[in-house]
Amino acid sequence: MGKRGLLFVISGPSGAGKGTTREALMRGDPGLAFCVSVTTRRPRAGEIPGVNYTFVDVADFRKSEAQGEFLESAQVYGNLYGTPRAPVEHLMESGQDVLLEKDVQGALAIQRRMPHAILVFIAPPSVDELKARILKRGTESAEDLECRLDCALREMDETRHFDYVVVNYDIDRSTQVLEAIVIAERHRVRHSNPAQECLEGKSGHDALPAS
Ligand code: 5GP
Repeated sequence: MGKRGLLFVISGPSGAGKGTTREALMRGDPGLAFCVSVTTRRPRAGEIPGVNYTFVDVADFRKSEAQGEFLESAQVYGNLYGTPRAPVEHLMESGQDVLLEKDVQGALAIQRRMPHAILVFIAPPSVDELKARILKRGTESAEDLECRLDCALREMDETRHFDYVVVNYDIDRSTQVLEAIVIAERHRVRHSNPAQECLEGKSGHDALPAS
């Protein structure tokens, strides 16, 4: 059996910049596959079905949930979100590293199911900065903003369950740190040990991961 891919989960409060850093990370690393979530939220301007999310109605979401199609599902800010199980498992089984972006409860639910998942928390530099970023995005009503801020404070209290915390002062810097985390994890002995495989004659130097 070939080597199983790694599972990276990027999380953190809304407005911390996890979406932007995740996109920047993926542009620089074609070896990471992103699995799109299913949501009952309405698409925002510019969002593309199948690229940003699979947009479904509540009935279809509940049907998929009842059929056990989600690795985890949660209600976030009044909408339902779910991580389809099959694409994540197929990609990992084929040796592909997978990247997910979840709210904190989703990340922790995935960690319970898949203890080898690598959890990265993207934190804002301060609560004031977080508020400014959510306001600047301008996609939320005043009520939603209040709810997202409340939730952000609770999420910031969960960092101890994560493997890494990246304080997002600057997107370029945070992306570099994320790239470093991905490279380091690919070289972790518990994930893969090409040197040992060399000794055992299973593979040649070609199997050593490229840095
Ligand atoms: P938004 O509606 O702003 O795209 O996302 C709202 C929140 O839901 C974000 O924190 C986002 O990371 C999270 N989210 C997106 N997809 C999923 C999912 O499949 N499961 C969970 N638990 N959270 C998700």
